[in-house]
Amino acid sequence: MNTFSVKAFGTESPEAPLKPLTINRRAVTATDVEIDIFYCGVCHSDLHTARNEWQGTVYPNVPGHEIVGRVTKVGDHVSRFNVGDLVGVGCMVDSCRECESCREGLEQYCENGNVQTYNGHEKYLNQQTFGGYSERVVVDEDFVLRIPENLDPAATAPLLCAGITTYSPLRHWNVGPGKRVGIVGIGGLGHMGVKIAKAMGAHVVVITTSMAKVADAKRLGADEIILSTDEQQMKDNVGTLHFILDCVSAAHDINAYLKLLKRDGSLTLVGAPENPLPVAPFSLIPKRKSFSGSMIGGIRETQEMLDFCGRHNITSDIELIPMQDINSAFERLLKGDVKYRFVIDMQSLKS
Ligand code: NAP
Ligand code: ZN
Ligand code: ZN
Repeated sequence: MNTFSVKAFGTESPEAPLKPLTINRRAVTATDVEIDIFYCGVCHSDLHTARNEWQGTVYPNVPGHEIVGRVTKVGDHVSRFNVGDLVGVGCMVDSCRECESCREGLEQYCENGNVQTYNGHEKYLNQQTFGGYSERVVVDEDFVLRIPENLDPAATAPLLCAGITTYSPLRHWNVGPGKRVGIVGIGGLGHMGVKIAKAMGAHVVVITTSMAKVADAKRLGADEIILSTDEQQMKDNVGTLHFILDCVSAAHDINAYLKLLKRDGSLTLVGAPENPLPVAPFSLIPKRKSFSGSMIGGIRETQEMLDFCGRHNITSDIELIPMQDINSAFERLLKGDVKYRFVIDMQSLKS
C-alpha cells in the first residue's frame, strides 16, 4: 500500500503536551477521498483521549474529529464527490457495513465496532487512525459529509461532532413544540444542543454552573436559565422538564438533575466523564424516569443534521486558534473557559 506523509500535531504519552509530528496516510484507494483540511474543532473527547482518561489510547495519538476541508483527490470508483467539493469528516471513518446497526444507518453502533477517526484501527496500514489535527486526511467516501455552502466553514466544523451528538438524541426523544427541554453543561456540545433544540421548536432551559454563561444563554436561544449552583433555583424547577440532555465532561451529581424531570421524563447522557456516575434508585423509581445514553449519530443522520443547520443558519460560536496554541486551549477547556468551541485554523500547520 502506498503512503504519503503529512504534518500533524499529537502526543506520545498521557502526560506529554501535543507537539509537531509527521504521520503516514494511505494513498487513496478506489473508494477514497483525499481532503485538504482547512479547520478542525477541538472536542473535549480529544483531551480525554490524548490524556488516556478513557484508557486504551495508542500513542502517538493525533486527535481531531470535527474536520472541514476541500476534496483534493478522488479514487476511481468514487461517485458522490469531486475535486473541489467542501466536505466534512466526523468521529467515524468506517464500520463493518453488514451488521443490523450498519444496515439501519446506525454505523456508530456497529456490532463489530465502528472505526473512529482517531485511535481506531487503520486496516490498510495496520496502525492506529490519526485525526484531523493534520494537513490532510484520506477517508472512504461513505463516511464523508457534504457541507452546506451557505455556512461559514470554520464555524461549521464543530457540527461534525458537537452538532450530531446533540441532534441525534434530541430527535430520538422527539424534542419539539410543547416539550420543555433542559441542556446541562454549556460547552461545545451544550451550546449546540441549545441552538438545535430551539430550532426544533422546544422550550429550552439552560442548566449551567457558570455565572458568566447566564447572560449569554438567551442569545444562544434559551427560554429560561437555571444556575445549578443555586440550590433555590434547582428547587424551584423540580419536576418541570420532559427531557434533559447532559453534556457535562466532569464528575457531577446526576441525581440533582434527575429531580428536574417530570413523570416519565428522560435524561440522556452524552457527556463522558472518566469515572462512574452513581444514580440513586429513588431518583428514577417514583416517577418512572429514564436514564440513558447516546453516541454521536449515523452518517445519514449527520448529513440530515448538516442540512437542517444549513436551512436554519445554525453554526457553532467559535474561537479560532493556530495549531500551536492547542496545549493552552486544552487547559482552558478544562476550566470551561471557551465560548463555545475552539477551532484550529489548519493553515497555521501548513505555513
Ligand atoms: P466542553 O466544551 O468542555 O463542555 C463541558 C461543559 O460541562 C462545561 O462547559 C461546563 O458547562 C460543564 N461542566 C464542566 N465541569 C462540570 C462540573 N464539574 N459540574 C457540572 N458541569 C460541569 O466539552 P464538550 O466538548 O462539549 O464535551 C462534553 C462531554 O461530551 C465530554 O465528556 C466529551 O468527551 C463528551 N462527548 C460525547 C460524545 C458522545 O457521542 N456521547 C461526543 C462528543 C463528546 P457549564 O459551564 O455550563 O456548567
Ligand atoms: Zn467529539
Ligand atoms: Zn456494523
